[in-house]
Amino acid sequence: MKALVYKSTGSWYVVKNDAGKVMNARIKGVFKIDGITSTNPIAVGDQVEVEMENEVEQTVTITQIYPRANYIARATPHQNRERHIVASNLDQLLLFATLKEPRTSQGFIDRFLVAAEAYHVPPVIVFNKADLYKKKELQVFEERKAIYEAINYKVLLTSIANNTGIDALKETLKDKTTLLSGHSGVGKSTFINAIFPDLALRTKEVSGWSGKGMHTTTFAEMFDLPFGGKIIDTPGIREFGITDIDKQELSHYYPEMREMLKNCQFNNCIHINEPGCAVKEAVEEEKIAIERYISYCNILDSMEDKHY
Ligand code: GDP
Ligand code: ZN
Repeated sequence: MKALVYKSTGSWYVVKNDAGKVMNARIKGVFKIDGITSTNPIAVGDQVEVEMENEVEQTVTITQIYPRANYIARATPHQNRERHIVASNLDQLLLFATLKEPRTSQGFIDRFLVAAEAYHVPPVIVFNKADLYKKKELQVFEERKAIYEAINYKVLLTSIANNTGIDALKETLKDKTTLLSGHSGVGKSTFINAIFPDLALRTKEVSGWSGKGMHTTTFAEMFDLPFGGKIIDTPGIREFGITDIDKQELSHYYPEMREMLKNCQFNNCIHINEPGCAVKEAVEEEKIAIERYISYCNILDSMEDKHY
């Protein structure tokens, strides 16, 4: 029987089958995907094959994982072949940000966008708490929006407090599988609670062995949206892994740079000091937003040199 993973703790799982039946699951044996071992072999969003383990307790065994269309991994401190998969089979990544209380830095947003590009999942940026924005913040919002929309990223302005922009946000989420992320304090839980009037959904305990002594809220979990689609909440995971990207690769994940890389004089150009650099030329001609180039330089600066 085929099922979809709604929750993964690394040792036990909650899955749902096509008929909508929710079951506790565990794995037997070792799963290796694409030759990469992972700290959590099964992730939220995975499609799996399950076999009934215990009819009475409604527990199943995961026997197989179907190939992932994509996945997101968490930044790990060490560069190795092991990673922590946050979620898989995503249609989009939603970044909750705000320009007030607490202001989300552009650097953080751009790192998120690089990760989205690297994992091939389209990003959406939501600027929340619009009710707190004064003239200055609204102007900053308009500038950011123009920069991101020019490179085909979707940008929304919301206020959960005032209920503005919420319909557009729901429309964006409808019928898609979306991973929700952002710093704490930006309004993610408030938003989820607003679209799930039925709070029971979030607090419902699963019975059986899986519930014992676990702090369930610290794990990634997927929820069915009442208007169609799914949302994945990943408490505690702030930043996705861009640690395994090379310095030379970084500009490939800036869509506005990607097109012109072939025009740089050196094919290993990192667009800092090299002569004949098409990217720097485009920045000078304002074809690339200076803010984006600065964030590029900052990310590059934070990346470790790889020694072979
Ligand atoms: P999370 O950490 O991202 O889940 O953030 P929370 O949902 O806990 O929200 C943090 C604080 O921001 C809470 O006090 C919320 O009431 C507040 N908040 C959330 N959305 C808005 C909004 O649109 N406007 C204002 N003014 N406050 C908001
Ligand atoms: Zn260059």
